[in-house]
Amino acid sequence: MYSDVSLFIDGTWSGAAAGKTIAVMNPATGEPIGKVAHAEQPDLDRALAAAAKGFETWRRISAYERAKIMRKAASLMRERIEAIARIMTIEQGKPLAEARGETALAGDIIEWFAEEARRAYGRVVPARAPGVYQLVVKEPVGVAAAFTPWNFPVNQAVRKISAALAAGCAIIIKGPEETPASCAELVRAYADAGVPEGVVNLVFGVPGDISGYLIPHPVVRKISFTGSTAVGKQLAALAGAHMKRVTMELGGHAPAIVFEDADVEAATKILSANKFRNAGQVCIAPTRFLVQEKVYEDFVDRFVAVAKGLKVGDGLDPATQMGPLAHERRVAAMEGFITDAVQKGAELATGGKRIGNKGYFFEPTVLTNVPRTARAMNEEPFGPVALIAPFREFDEVVAEANRLNYGLAAYAYTRSAKTATAIAGAVETGMISINHHGLALPEVPFGGVKDSGYGSEGGLEAIEAYLITKFVSQASA
Ligand code: NAD
Repeated sequence: MYSDVSLFIDGTWSGAAAGKTIAVMNPATGEPIGKVAHAEQPDLDRALAAAAKGFETWRRISAYERAKIMRKAASLMRERIEAIARIMTIEQGKPLAEARGETALAGDIIEWFAEEARRAYGRVVPARAPGVYQLVVKEPVGVAAAFTPWNFPVNQAVRKISAALAAGCAIIIKGPEETPASCAELVRAYADAGVPEGVVNLVFGVPGDISGYLIPHPVVRKISFTGSTAVGKQLAALAGAHMKRVTMELGGHAPAIVFEDADVEAATKILSANKFRNAGQVCIAPTRFLVQEKVYEDFVDRFVAVAKGLKVGDGLDPATQMGPLAHERRVAAMEGFITDAVQKGAELATGGKRIGNKGYFFEPTVLTNVPRTARAMNEEPFGPVALIAPFREFDEVVAEANRLNYGLAAYAYTRSAKTATAIAGAVETGMISINHHGLALPEVPFGGVKDSGYGSEGGLEAIEAYLITKFVSQASA
């Protein structure tokens, strides 16, 4: 059911030149389930040469033909949903229903970018002299190097691959070593759909060694990274030193603001589902629940009831609503955040502990009256820990929402159109969703501000990141 994972370079699946591998674990059991090939410099050199060649091939294929191949890849992902979802659950932990949803969304993302491939329009600027044509032409930037994490093994990669391919670029993906097989299935769908050799290449290894080699390399013209802010800053600095284009999708600490005139029942239902989805390991997860005093107790009671009722277990069990954390590091991180918050005066309303000693299961946790000094109120918890704090007034909650250097996602609930408009304008964030959860669709921008990064992984802006603008001024001879 779970097979070892190879590198995919120049259209061929193979082990690393030196034969090294890295173990892959099932987070529901803590036991090894397979191995992933560990690329080193000779493998990366092969990937770079393949991508350089692949780029020359792919850029010459018309956008119309590229779109056909991409649409085929979308169909293959849809046909293979069951198999890919099972692999994802076994290596990442999320419930099967979530894994199916992620794979289905990958089909939508590929399809949307396929359509946009044909719309990478330039423009004509009116000239000052007769007989002169001033053309603004969009061209692919070149070979991209992309680094994707383990929380959404398919969807973090599919956005980067699809935007690159739509633009006419080739790409080298450094996939997630913890969850390599489902990411490899995405690459397989592209390969089976007929993407030429060298256009998509997949490697795994020591993340810092691979980024340290690929980012400065002259073949690579574009960098895209999804992961923590700390690593993003290092990679952006390296890219800057080599004048490479960069997209950075980094951490978040989303405020979820519930005003006293909100539909509290609906707010609790939607926000709790999104808090505990993927065991909270989501960059846009609602994190700081800021609830106006009048409805604070009601919100807390409802939220705690949801958290207590969640069935935590192996994602393969159809009854499971929340799977394990993806690896042991996250368990230790949760314990650290909770101990610190309680020491500083937060109340543990429910949860707070690891479940059992096999696998990386953790209780859905709610901390209330969490002081701003708690570490979890300042650093991204990236786990199933909800932090709830009361507020009195609009200005106060805006100040709290904007207090951190993060600015990825934000949420607000209110029945007042005036408050909705005001909060949308006041929060420093890349995305805000009001009265529902409406983020991360293929056709809308996806990205952050401040320490959450820059650039977009959705919408028109996502393709733009893989295009350069060339100006052509042409007079008749
Ligand atoms: P980490 O910072 O070690 O790694 C995060 C991701 O970055 C991983 O995919 C890793 O392979 C990659 N990475 C790390 N160092 C790298 C380097 N030098 N070059 C290239 N890639 C590198 O942390 P972790 O323990 O895996 O995850 C914990 C934190 O990472 C979380 O708290 C969260 O803030 C962040 N994270 C964010 C996202 C996201 O969707 N934005 C996804 C996964 C992890």
